[in-house]
Amino acid sequence: MIIAIVGAGMGGLALARVLHLHGIEAVVYERESSRAARGQGGMLDIHSGQRALREAGLIDRFHAIARSEGQDMRLLEPDGTLLLRQDTPEDAPLDRPEVDRADLRDMLLDSLPADAVRWGHAFNSADNGLLRFADGSSATYDLLVGADGAQSRVRALLTDARPAHLGQNVVEVGIPDIDRTHPELAAMVGRGNFWVIGNGLSLAAQRNGDGRVRIGVCFYNTPENWFATSAIPFDDPAAVRARLIELLPGWDARFTALIAACDDLVAPRSISALPVGLIWPSQPDRTLVGDAAHLMPPVGEGANMALLDGASLGLALAAHQGDIPTAVATYEREMFERTGAAARMSARVQELLTAPDASRRMLAFFQPD
Ligand SMILES: Cc1cc2nc3c(=O)[nH]c(=O)nc-3n(C[C@H](O)[C@H](O)[C@H](O)COP(=O)(O)OP(=O)(O)OC[C@H]3O[C@@H](n4cnc5c(N)ncnc54)[C@H](O)[C@@H]3O)c2cc1C
Repeated sequence: MIIAIVGAGMGGLALARVLHLHGIEAVVYERESSRAARGQGGMLDIHSGQRALREAGLIDRFHAIARSEGQDMRLLEPDGTLLLRQDTPEDAPLDRPEVDRADLRDMLLDSLPADAVRWGHAFNSADNGLLRFADGSSATYDLLVGADGAQSRVRALLTDARPAHLGQNVVEVGIPDIDRTHPELAAMVGRGNFWVIGNGLSLAAQRNGDGRVRIGVCFYNTPENWFATSAIPFDDPAAVRARLIELLPGWDARFTALIAACDDLVAPRSISALPVGLIWPSQPDRTLVGDAAHLMPPVGEGANMALLDGASLGLALAAHQGDIPTAVATYEREMFERTGAAARMSARVQELLTAPDASRRMLAFFQPD
């Protein structure tokens, strides 16, 4: 049985690891040239995904790299009003710790045989048991698993569905080594998540493991081509900072000071998602895991679902060895139901964020009583 996994992200690696634990080898084809080829950046909030890491025999290693204090939360309004402050006690359980995406990916990669990932293999097409890569090489498979993320190419072999823009555009910036360079801003942001929401905008600052604070300025209810009309000069980082501050009129000076303190790394990100509850007729030799199967708004479910998908498919293949179609159908039944619920929940949170009174709605979400 030759299992070919396209994509060495959360879903593909979790699948490869669970298969490896059950004595089933798989090959992961990844388009990047090495594990260090691209900065993975950012923190992930891992909650339900811990079940997958337990199945993968990695929960202790995960707890060693997870940051409990990353669960801290501060919610504010643009005029400076503090709505919510939650500090994680020293002895708090690791229910939703934050982990550096690069650390989590390294942990998964290190848990696999050295030759499990074939770097520099960009999937191009597949048919009749033959995979073709962008460099002209090819490989055979009995089962093809598309774990190739939001812009999946494998997806088209199962469904015509495509991600649609959610009316949200984000500019990502950041402050390096904040404790040393801007201690007063570091104290304001705290150890975890710092969120200012209001007037159709949000500013989300999050402390990363390496001391960098990543900041996303989100513009809700904006069209897909918004960056082209926003007058944000992406080729000039200093001018980007000035324009972002201009786009936050009336915001407390402490919040705009966060933007002014950023370095020159700027990334625009347009947010899209697949239809909620997407399913497809099961195919005997191909399936999808992670964002390829169910890209959702980025409200903290995607990586968790990708890890769970990988574990679920791995367990199904181990339970139905020699019968790939049954394993795939079993996995997809469980995955469609679980990720459909997560996508509905994510869509509801996304709706709260775009509402005129978003900050109060988010407060009610975090403090239901
Ligand atoms: C800013 C941001 C913050 C987020 N925060 C959270 C969070 O806190 N919690 C959470 O649960 N989720 C979060 N998410 C969502 C999460 O990152 C994704 O849902 C998750 O990474 C999906 O995993 P995946 O394995 O499906 O895809 P990915 O992790 O994206 O991996 C896909 C892999 O496939 C490779 N690939 C792509 N195309 C090809 C090809 N043609 N050939 C070969 N390889 C290919 C890519 O290089 C990549 O390595 C966040 C997302 C964003 C954008």
